[in-house]
Amino acid sequence: MFATLSDRLADTFKNLRGKGKLSEADIDATAREIRIALLEADVALPVVKEFVGAVKERARGAEVSQALNPAQQIIKIVNEELVNILGGETRRLRYAKTGPTVIMLAGLQGAGKTTLAAKLALWLKDQSKSPILVAADLQRPNAVNQLQVNGERVGVPVFAPQPGNGVGDPVAVAREAIEEAKRKLHDVVIVDTAGRLGIDAELMQQASDIRDAVQPDEVLFVVDAMIGQDAVNTALAFQEGVGYDAVVLTKLDGDARGGAALSIASITGKPVMFASNGEKMTDFDLFHPDRMASRILDMGDMLTLIEQAEKTFDAAEAQKAAEKLAGGGDFTLTDFLAQMQQIRKMGSLTKIMGMLPGMGQFRDQLENFDEKEIDRIQAIIQSMTPGERENPKMIDGSRRLRISKGSGTQVSDVNTLVDRFFEARKMMQQMARGGGMPGMPGMPG
Ligand code: GDP
Repeated sequence: MFATLSDRLADTFKNLRGKGKLSEADIDATAREIRIALLEADVALPVVKEFVGAVKERARGAEVSQALNPAQQIIKIVNEELVNILGGETRRLRYAKTGPTVIMLAGLQGAGKTTLAAKLALWLKDQSKSPILVAADLQRPNAVNQLQVNGERVGVPVFAPQPGNGVGDPVAVAREAIEEAKRKLHDVVIVDTAGRLGIDAELMQQASDIRDAVQPDEVLFVVDAMIGQDAVNTALAFQEGVGYDAVVLTKLDGDARGGAALSIASITGKPVMFASNGEKMTDFDLFHPDRMASRILDMGDMLTLIEQAEKTFDAAEAQKAAEKLAGGGDFTLTDFLAQMQQIRKMGSLTKIMGMLPGMGQFRDQLENFDEKEIDRIQAIIQSMTPGERENPKMIDGSRRLRISKGSGTQVSDVNTLVDRFFEARKMMQQMARGGGMPGMPGMPG
């Protein structure tokens, strides 16, 4: 459902790759692209405005993370804001403390209510509950029968008015159903109410009457995610007419643009609790805003890596190095080793390539990176005396020979390391003078 939005956002992030620092113009351009992407996905305008405003403000730097490069920071912010508009935390079903839990479904005809009632019943059965379905939709001639068919498919009993009794009273049916549930020891009652093709006062009144009669623990508003902006309007009308605790999105498997799904929690202030995404009875689950956001960003791996980089990156270490450099630039071999070990902590280097600040410029070197090289560097530096590590200038010919023997390497390896270290130090001092954060020192090639 979110394919176009995903592609659009990916393009936006691509434009940021390789940038060392985001200028005001970069942030504006990015915000503009995100805005267009959301509008094209049919997200409601107030939600778009709020979203873009938040991204812009956060990108301007209040929370610039040292562990991430600008593109990753934007991805992280967009991800978090997506989770936010999708409702934040996963909202779970609240069960009644005593007696059966009553769940009432409301929504337009065709929203997928009857299908959903059965899916929910099956889901509850899988959680060791003993649900009963209630056909309180007596408007549509076929509705009771349809619920019975669906109930049979999932092996859940359906409480319905006896046929031939004329037009029943849905409020009475719902009330009787609760008694039946208590008698038969069902612990969850799912009440399917009537829908109409459009919103009307009578429909709202009937739903409200059923609500008052059965005092549901949860009223769920069921809405077809494929109807676009109309979903938002319908949601608002039901909120005013009946009121509900959470939203269920159906037909998320469709190819609509998905804006409704993205707008509804923000606009109504009610969380999306379940999502229905197919015709099979098992195409249904709790709605997880965080999972949905990473699906939209289509970069689950990237998000995991960002998390990992943030966790591993030792801000205190980096700060120390930065201060050292700013205060005269005595970056030593001990610091060099510490930085190498930090890279090692992050796991496979090829995987984290490009994730460290300033790493972009080392991309070519990294692509040919041999992890054993770090072992060698470590061995060489550990064979040095503390004095040599702090003041590498003193490492003359005879010291190099001793170090190479101690570390089981060649003198040429020691030479290469020392040369590389001086190069790296020079570069870092330049960067420190330029006011930027130090990137990684000269990577082994
Ligand atoms: P109701 O009028 O609200 O009770 O809606 P129904 O449950 O009868 O569903 C209307 C149509 O939508 C039916 O053809 C269902 O098979 C279909 N439907 C319901 N949920 C989904 C879904 O998640 N995905 C797809 N593709 N179709 C669905």
